[in-house]
Amino acid sequence: MSETLANLLQETRRFPPPADLAAAANVTADAYDSAAEDRLAFWARQAGRLDWSTEWDQILDWSNPPFAKWFVGGKLNVAYNCLDRHVAAGHGDRVAIHWEGEPGDTRTITYADLLAMTSQAANALTDLGVTAGDRVAIYLPMIPEAAVAMLACARIGATHSVVFGGFSADALTNRIQDASAKVVITADGGFRRGKPSALKPTVDEAVAKCPTIERVLVVRRTGQDVAWSDRDVWWHEAVETASTEHTAEAFDAEHPLFILYTSGTTAKPKGILHTTGGYLTQAAYTHHAVFDLKPESDVYWCTADIGWVTGHSYIVYGPLANGATQLMYEGTPDTPHKGRFWELVQKHKVTILYTAPTLIRTMMKWGDDIPRGHDLSSLRLLGSVGEPINPEAWIWYRENIGRGECPVVDTWWQTETGAIMISPLPGVTSTKPGSAMRPLPGISADVVDDQAQSVPDGGGGFLVLREPWPSMLRTIWGDDQRFVDTYWSRFEGLYFAGDGAKKDDDGDLWLLGRVDDVMLVSGHNISTTEVESALVSHPSVAEAAVVGATDPTTGQAIVAFTIPRGSVDTEGSAGEALIAELREHVSKTLGPIAKPRQILLVPELPKTRSGKIMRRLLRDVAENRSLGDVTTLQDSSVMDLISSGMRSGK
Ligand code: ATP
Ligand code: MG
Repeated sequence: MSETLANLLQETRRFPPPADLAAAANVTADAYDSAAEDRLAFWARQAGRLDWSTEWDQILDWSNPPFAKWFVGGKLNVAYNCLDRHVAAGHGDRVAIHWEGEPGDTRTITYADLLAMTSQAANALTDLGVTAGDRVAIYLPMIPEAAVAMLACARIGATHSVVFGGFSADALTNRIQDASAKVVITADGGFRRGKPSALKPTVDEAVAKCPTIERVLVVRRTGQDVAWSDRDVWWHEAVETASTEHTAEAFDAEHPLFILYTSGTTAKPKGILHTTGGYLTQAAYTHHAVFDLKPESDVYWCTADIGWVTGHSYIVYGPLANGATQLMYEGTPDTPHKGRFWELVQKHKVTILYTAPTLIRTMMKWGDDIPRGHDLSSLRLLGSVGEPINPEAWIWYRENIGRGECPVVDTWWQTETGAIMISPLPGVTSTKPGSAMRPLPGISADVVDDQAQSVPDGGGGFLVLREPWPSMLRTIWGDDQRFVDTYWSRFEGLYFAGDGAKKDDDGDLWLLGRVDDVMLVSGHNISTTEVESALVSHPSVAEAAVVGATDPTTGQAIVAFTIPRGSVDTEGSAGEALIAELREHVSKTLGPIAKPRQILLVPELPKTRSGKIMRRLLRDVAENRSLGDVTTLQDSSVMDLISSGMRSGK
């Protein structure tokens, strides 16, 4: 695989860190050296950022790989570290969350408020019979109670399983059953796209099939009518009347903190288990290092949903452990208009923005004028996560959102890794558009060939992790064997979770998407990511998804599904001319071998609820198969549109 994966895309642009940011950066280049010198001592120092009620006896127990134990014997409380200690240090009046509801209602919640709310919820959950070790499912919109519910579980040692509020009753049922949850925390509904969208009926349907559920705790958000049973309890009756005093008990460093199911981009979701001390250590350290967070002056905004791991580590646990002030937004980016995000950045003077390539490409499609109409001068740092970011989208983000000045940090990680693993350091790294650059200090990522040999600079292959890391998954819930088989069996002693990557001539890392997505065309391995990036580099293209379809002559042939930018004419012959031009453009950019056999212009792409392109469904379309598992698909009508375009040959 190595030679062909390596030699396609050429990217020579470089962006050094701004001098003022570098001069005051939280983390400087010596962090790499000190971590390389003694990795475990480095992580022990980072664990020292937290308050432990009992110090650990051993930093890492790796005597039974791949089952890791970090900070063995240590005890701490996660919610105490996110709340109480900031209040005790005199920061109770600092805003923790500036919350914006989609209809325009707002709330301002200080650290003292958040501590009081969390204590009430912890008392109420205890009254409902929840004790340490029980599982609690959380199925809520993006309201402050979502963070409060998670923190309250952490506070009493209950293991939460957050299920994205857009999922169906079946998806919720499966997740509740898999974890044998005892309580569900939900709401009557939430606001999406300008109207209330009900949640409680979905929970009622799911709970009917889940005998383990004893109580359903319901937040009133929209005020819509709900069916009610003896099992149900209103949040405002149970929680808001409870005592605001609650003493947090310390739990073992390896106490299960949460279960979270993966996005389901490649297959059926897996229940990933994260524990307490190592997870919080790495979430807090990476948030401090990668976002250069200054808790006294920054206003941080992560646009993820709390239902994804990004919401866990970079809305709740990392930022709150660091005492950050953040913005939390309930709704969609185009409600009531397509400038909503930029209006919020301007209003709250957001300094750090963390979002996903899918959103950046959507903003590109909507046009440059929309951000231009707002004052974005408060921004000083931009982050990206979720998929490879195409170089053109990276540049667009830096130019149009970051005024051509803000560093862009492309962060690679997974639900399984718990926290960021590969990313530039904003005060240190000269970034390259489209590259996640280097493993963070204390992380040993590498690219290997199919014999597990490290590839030289300039080579490509499989992205692996060589050493355990503090926030690593501990297992797949209830299925240790699947954990071993899924992540630790492809290469002896190495963690491998499906992504391909290459090292450029400087040794910097470029993520190439899933190795299952790599195409084999006339004997050449070509990554979908690179063909997509070539398409997106054409000024008429906002977004592209590429798959390999079986082909009688070339083995596999490249089929590209392409979304044109807003202003581009695609009717009739203009569309045909654009398609011809795009095929030529790819051929010129990457070489004739990468020229797509077929390009379809489409209005939308199939995405998971977390916004990732589901190439496996496009492969099903391109090869005329019936569609595989679609439970995590965002909008099923998209597939009908695409399939009919395919049949008509457009
Ligand atoms: P499933 O494992 O169920 O198929 P998923 O892998 O999409 O779902 P997540 O844990 O949400 O579930 O996503 C992690 C994956 O997202 C990574 O393995 C990688 O493929 C992709 N990814 C995340 N961040 C980046 C990034 N910065 N660059 C490239 N790819 C990324
Ligand atoms: Mg995955």
